[in-house]
Amino acid sequence: MATFIHPRLVNDVFGDPGVYAELMFERRALLLDLGDLAPLSASALLKVSHVFISHAHADHFSGFDRLLRLCLGRDKTVALFGPPGLADRVGHKLAGYSWNLVHNYEAELVFAVTEIHPGAQTTAARYRSSTGFQREPAPQGAAEAGIVWDEPALRVRAVALDHQIPSMAYAIEEKAHVNIWKNRLAERGWPVGPWLAELKRATLAGLPDDTPFRIWWREQGEPRETQVPLGTLKAEVLNIVPGRKIAYVVDAVFHEANAQRIAGLAAGADILFIESPFLDADAAIAARKHHLTARQAGLLARRAGAKELVTFHYSPRYLGRADELRREARIAFAQGAVPDHPMRQVS
Ligand SMILES: [Zn+2]
Repeated sequence: MATFIHPRLVNDVFGDPGVYAELMFERRALLLDLGDLAPLSASALLKVSHVFISHAHADHFSGFDRLLRLCLGRDKTVALFGPPGLADRVGHKLAGYSWNLVHNYEAELVFAVTEIHPGAQTTAARYRSSTGFQREPAPQGAAEAGIVWDEPALRVRAVALDHQIPSMAYAIEEKAHVNIWKNRLAERGWPVGPWLAELKRATLAGLPDDTPFRIWWREQGEPRETQVPLGTLKAEVLNIVPGRKIAYVVDAVFHEANAQRIAGLAAGADILFIESPFLDADAAIAARKHHLTARQAGLLARRAGAKELVTFHYSPRYLGRADELRREARIAFAQGAVPDHPMRQVS
């Protein structure tokens, strides 16, 4: 089975942070952060259905205007997720324009905003073009286990990091693919039928292997059925391909509480995108600006057990020295060096 999620950096490593995650087979994409979007074509941006924003510093949020401009006049809903205060900020952005003619448009553009609050609470608001983007309340929700978005093929988890303000980190988790060996079904005399969809659902739901599973079909108009343990079916007729996990960590200070949250969110990630703005020689500056160093990013990737590390969001002070940042992160990732700078404790 081909990989479903194809993530890539929006800008080069010195540009605004952002990851564009294309969902193959769906002509759809998820976007992590809304900074400079210039490298993304209009057709790439129009595929974006969900945007996950870390925080509202300009290099993470100023691209909202380009997204708005492109989507205007189209029937489209864009879901935006982010830290507390995001709904107001989106409202303020929208209020910066005149909307006296927009109610004449046939198409409806909707921004559905979800704020992620401490304690797994979410609040929501909606802005529709037909009302001139007046704020409308939307139901509150819960982000159990940090899950802020869940759909059949994937889920997105969020955790708030300390960047003096909350900075959300995200993990996109592709769910397992379940493929059916049709030839093995035939060998066992089990006809193809709606029970296979139930079998996929039961498997993805993680039901225990000894769960009795009913296979049913009709033979010459007569109902037939047999029961087989779920584990037997999984072993004999299913090919289960685990989904990939993509983690995205930007602006955050290096301390133990952040490290724990990052390690939990990014645990076992296939790819961890993580900011590395400063060299460790400038760790004091990084700490003052509430950012990581490349070495700290590497250590965090190692602690999370990430399989692949992608560093970005380099400070322009190192222009022409990207290799140094990359190398420092790689060495810490590979060797797990003991930090020279003890982690700050947070109260
Ligand atoms: Zn920031």
